[in-house]
Amino acid sequence: MSYITANVKSLLSELPKDVQLVAAVKSRTADEVREALDAGITIIGENYVQEACALFASLARQVQWHCIGHLQRNKARRAVGLFEMIQTLDSWELAESLERICAAERKKVQVLVEVNSAEETRKSGVDPADVLPLIKKIASLGHVCVQGLMTMGPLTDQKKALRRAFRRTREIFTHLKKEAPANVQMRFLSMGMSDSYSIALEEGANMIRIGTRIFKKN
Ligand SMILES: *Cc1c(COP(=O)(O)O)cnc(C)c1O
Repeated sequence: MSYITANVKSLLSELPKDVQLVAAVKSRTADEVREALDAGITIIGENYVQEACALFASLARQVQWHCIGHLQRNKARRAVGLFEMIQTLDSWELAESLERICAAERKKVQVLVEVNSAEETRKSGVDPADVLPLIKKIASLGHVCVQGLMTMGPLTDQKKALRRAFRRTREIFTHLKKEAPANVQMRFLSMGMSDSYSIALEEGANMIRIGTRIFKKN
């Protein structure tokens, strides 16, 4: 058994059943990704539209694709063709672009709203105070379906700061379950990476995005 297979199997065996494992595959080869899929990965997380296109072509099999990198509006059309879910919805303008494209193509796209839980250290995502107003606006769109929240957390290995950011995002998630419009679903809370997923799970994540822990030889 190769290390990738072993890594995936040990991760899957350690995760609670209701937790979705997304393999973050940026800069991995098609062979590496194929091996992870054979070992039981069912969701691929890609940061780059270009790279996803290339991988998509060489991996002819049933698997879900999620966009986990920042998505520029001028790539929205290609993204809609590739991804079942866009985990990095971070502006009303991007939601509008996705809506226009999906309406024309008679498709729906699932999105997670990316929350900036890290305050100073990282700038990606929507500020916590703006999440509910944004979700209320998106709820008026017919083809962009909010399914939950995603966060990166702070760029640090300090456990306290990570936990604070994840807890904050979970609190927003819980609040939205009550306050969000009826057609908005709060199903997925995507947070935690190789070095932080244990803390994220303790703080209520039900979707984690793992790269290094799958693809690196220990
Ligand atoms: C790379 C990446 C991950 C995985 O990070 P690892 O530390 O390699 O597990 C998760 N989420 C996003 C958005 C990423 O870009």
